[in-house]
Amino acid sequence: MELRVDRERCIGAGMCVLTAPGVFDQDTADGRVVPLDLTPAPEREHAVREATEVCPSGAITIVSGD
Ligand code: SF4
Repeated sequence: MELRVDRERCIGAGMCVLTAPGVFDQDTADGRVVPLDLTPAPEREHAVREATEVCPSGAITIVSGD
């Protein structure tokens, strides 16, 4: 699985961090997402898909691995 994260689109809701904490973090300065792992291992894919679905701004895109 490969991800793309658009920090410009992110509104800092933090849902991704709660859903997939090893994959996403939040910038302490502006609250926007900080991707920790853009090629998550298979065991994280379920959480990443969920994070993509719950993100209110559509900032997370799965570019491969569907
Ligand atoms: S859930 Fe979406 S809007 Fe919220 S911090 Fe993560 S990427 Fe940004």
